[in-house]
Amino acid sequence: MEILHNVILVDEWAWKKEKNEIFSVKSCYEWLEDIERPTNEGKRTFHCNFVWEPRIPTNVKFFMWSLMWGRILTVDMLQKKGIQIQNRCCLCKTEEESMPHLFLKCRFTMTPWENLLTVHASTRQTLPGWYTVTDMLQSWKDFNSREVTSEIWAILPYALLWTVWRVRNEVIFQGGTADEYKVIQRIKATIWGWLNIAHMAKVANAQCGHLYF
Ligand SMILES: [Zn+2]
Repeated sequence: MEILHNVILVDEWAWKKEKNEIFSVKSCYEWLEDIERPTNEGKRTFHCNFVWEPRIPTNVKFFMWSLMWGRILTVDMLQKKGIQIQNRCCLCKTEEESMPHLFLKCRFTMTPWENLLTVHASTRQTLPGWYTVTDMLQSWKDFNSREVTSEIWAILPYALLWTVWRVRNEVIFQGGTADEYKVIQRIKATIWGWLNIAHMAKVANAQCGHLYF
């Protein structure tokens, strides 16, 4: 106790993923990429690049973040949390709702997928092979179509996932039915809107740069 008497101990934060113990976003990303965690889609690694797509709005990035962690509250997830609820997909009204079903396998969702992917036959053939949203996003770039611009191609799956989720919520919380072909138009309008916003942000940044530098 005599030795410790003159020692002042201060608690400090330390980031163990860096040698100097100072936090860096890069090491945090690498750490997230390495994590294997159980989800309702089985074990998989976290893909940060699927979340931080620069041309999608922030609220959609949060949606993608939840999707990548398997935290979207589909009916099967609510049941796992102990909520007593019948599991019936509100879009096809035949199968049980889960993340892979709602976004990839549902008869309703297949229509916009097939309609929007007719631009590239090989992608369309691959559609049934996607068992998880991560599978789809991982293989998406390999099917980069030259029939649409790369900018549209890059955000097309995000627009589809986001629109299906919104339509599903509207059907559940506001009542009514969903129309596959109106959903396709909505996906196209969403892509158009996001690209306009991204373009305006680019122009605004360029103008700010011109003004200040
Ligand atoms: Zn369904």
